[in-house]
Amino acid sequence: MLAGVFEKVGNLALQEREVPTLKSDLDVKIKVLAASICGTDVHILSDPPGHPATPGVIQGHEYVGEVVETGKDVRNVNIGDRVIVDPTTTCGSCHYCQIGRPNLCKNSSTLGIFLDGGWASYSVVPSKNVFKISKEIAPEIAVLAEPLSCVVNGSEKVNVQPGESVVIIGAGPMGQLFTQVLKAAGAAKIICADFSDYRLNYSKLSGATHVLNPKNEDLVKTVKEITKVGADVVIDCVGVLFDQCINLVRSGGQILLVGMNEHAQPQIKQYDLTRNEITVKGTFIQNYDFPKVVKILESNILNLNSLITHKITLDKLEEGIETMRKGEAIKIIVYPL
Ligand SMILES: [Zn+2]
Ligand SMILES: [Zn+2]
Repeated sequence: MLAGVFEKVGNLALQEREVPTLKSDLDVKIKVLAASICGTDVHILSDPPGHPATPGVIQGHEYVGEVVETGKDVRNVNIGDRVIVDPTTTCGSCHYCQIGRPNLCKNSSTLGIFLDGGWASYSVVPSKNVFKISKEIAPEIAVLAEPLSCVVNGSEKVNVQPGESVVIIGAGPMGQLFTQVLKAAGAAKIICADFSDYRLNYSKLSGATHVLNPKNEDLVKTVKEITKVGADVVIDCVGVLFDQCINLVRSGGQILLVGMNEHAQPQIKQYDLTRNEITVKGTFIQNYDFPKVVKILESNILNLNSLITHKITLDKLEEGIETMRKGEAIKIIVYPL
């Protein structure tokens, strides 16, 4: 089978690989129906890399497939089922797994980053990482399950109420999904900010009530005008803007930190957090959110079609990654050959 492989620093290679076989009685083999390219994939393939990965691994951690083989102890899915994949493997026995926080597992790994993933025709996955989804949901929609699971996890942490105002900084795929999920949750004012007008146009389709390009207008001033007192919730999907968030949130409001950048060291005025009773929460991947994502996808309450800007076949992966790198895409769907 043809596979998109992280060959070495800065390099993706299309390689012929053997179709993988089950390694345990709890594994399932899936025929990949669709995959997508995540911002993390672009970071992995940058030189120097912005995210670690194992050389030689088949990339792609966002994918959906059909079960074609099951180990003899698999109980949750059957051959022929369509499944979405949670790419994070966890140990089940460390402190964090035992207290119900497997997203913080100390022995976790990730399919498509450290283990073979979904940029290929077939993938072998532990059965606890697959979730059955209706065949009425198109593969290119179901493939958004993984980023959506992270957004559901973050949204639960801030618990946005009907009528509340939200500022979402960064209008990439995560910013778009937060916009859609919080719109569905009843947020009345959703203000999206990004330096790219291209991305902000998609924010409008996702349900933003206001889009702001800080190149053209003062973010703090405009948010104050729209919300009067500052936003109830501010979400940083970029990963370097914690200090900015403090200027945008109202007293007693919440800041959710989603984006990740190891090198960011914003200057924080601690006094402001204390004096204004601002709650700050970090959120990392997902925690038992896949069953909720299945419900969301099967209910068709989001406008996910609007986020799919490109559809390519696996042999065009490199062009797809280049398009992502240039910021000229929201979601690129990849079909195996
Ligand atoms: Zn991702
Ligand atoms: Zn663990």
